[in-house]
Amino acid sequence: MDWKDALLNIVTQPSSRLRFEEPLAKHTYFGIGGEAAAYIEISTVSELAALARFHKQWNVPIAVIGRGSNLLVSDTGFKGIGVRLIGELAKLEVDGDVVSVGAGLSLPRLSKTMSRRGLSGVEFALGIPGSVGGALIMNAGAWGSSFGDVVTNVTVMNDAAEMIELTHAEAKFEYRHSGLDTYFCVTGATLRLEPGDVDTITERMQTFYKQKVETQPFAEENAGCMFKNPPGDSAGRLIDISGLKGYRIGGAEVSTVHGNFILNIDNATAADVLNLVAYIQQQVREKTGISLQTEVKRLGFDTKV
Ligand SMILES: Cc1cc2nc3c(=O)[nH]c(=O)nc-3n(C[C@H](O)[C@H](O)[C@H](O)COP(=O)(O)OP(=O)(O)OC[C@H]3O[C@@H](n4cnc5c(N)ncnc54)[C@H](O)[C@@H]3O)c2cc1C
Repeated sequence: MDWKDALLNIVTQPSSRLRFEEPLAKHTYFGIGGEAAAYIEISTVSELAALARFHKQWNVPIAVIGRGSNLLVSDTGFKGIGVRLIGELAKLEVDGDVVSVGAGLSLPRLSKTMSRRGLSGVEFALGIPGSVGGALIMNAGAWGSSFGDVVTNVTVMNDAAEMIELTHAEAKFEYRHSGLDTYFCVTGATLRLEPGDVDTITERMQTFYKQKVETQPFAEENAGCMFKNPPGDSAGRLIDISGLKGYRIGGAEVSTVHGNFILNIDNATAADVLNLVAYIQQQVREKTGISLQTEVKRLGFDTKV
C-alpha cells in the first residue's frame, strides 16, 4: 500500500472529498499556483485525527488551506496534501455572548451572523475573505481591531492527533501573527462578544465594508495586503511615495488603488509575484530606508514564510 491508498481510508464521511493532482490556483484568491499531490475536504474531528496519524506514519507534507486569501502557491505546486475544513469543523454555535466557531467557518459569514444576533466585536471581518482558522493564524484585522482581541480560547490538534485547548495568552497573538502555526491544525475558537443593538452593529459593519471597497481593489485576483505595515507607518504609503503604483512584472501589477496590493491581472505566475515583491522591497529600502516584510504566506516553496 502506498500513501495514496492509505489516504483513501481517511475519508469516511459522505460530505468529505478527496482528489489527487488538484490545481491549487482554484483554491486561492490569487488564482496562482500548480497542483497539490492531493486535496482533501474533511468534515469531522475523527477524520482530522486520522489524517494526523497518517501524517506521522507516511510523512507526506500537509498544509491546511482556509480560503486561500493570504496564500501564494508555487508554480510547481505543493508535493503534499492540501486540507480544507468543512462540516462540524466549520460550525457556529452561540450561547449568550459566547460564540464557538470551527476553523473552517467563513469570516464574512461570522460577521454577518453576529450582527444579526446583536453581538459586537467582529464587524471589521465582513471584508476579510478568509476562514476563522486563517484569521487565527494571521491574527487578521482591520480598522484597529484584530481577530485575537475577541478570542478567549483556541482549540488545536497536535501531531499526535490530540485536541488541546489553549488560552488567549498561549495563542501568542501579535500584529498579523500568532504562535498557532506550530500545531498540526487549528480547529476552532471560543469568542466573547459584546451584546448590543442590531441596527448599530449592522451599520458599523456595513460602514467598514463600504470604506474597504472604496479604498482597496476588489475586482482583480489578489491576496490582500502583500506587506506588513512597519511600526507607525503604512506599507501602502511607502510603496506609493516610492512611485511603484501600477508597476508591473509579467502578469503581476502593483494596484493603482492601494499600493500594498499586488494583482494578478494577466495570468501572473508565482515567479512574477515574487520578482515584483523583491523589486518593491529593494525600491522602498533605497528610497525610505525601510525594509518591508511580507504578510502573505507561501506554499510549495523551499521555505514557508
Ligand atoms: C480582498 C482581500 C482583502 C483582505 N483584507 C484583509 C484585511 O483587511 N485584514 C487582514 O488581516 N487580512 C486581509 N486579507 C488577507 C486574508 O483574508 C486574511 O489573512 C485571512 O485571515 C486569511 O484566511 P484564509 O482562511 O484565507 O487563510 P489561508 O490564506 O488559506 O491561509 C493562511 C495561512 O494560514 C494557514 N491556515 C489556514 N487555516 C488553518 C488552520 N485551520 N490550521 C492551521 N493553519 C491554517 C495556512 O496554512 C496558511 O499558512 C485580505 C485578503 C483579500 C484577498
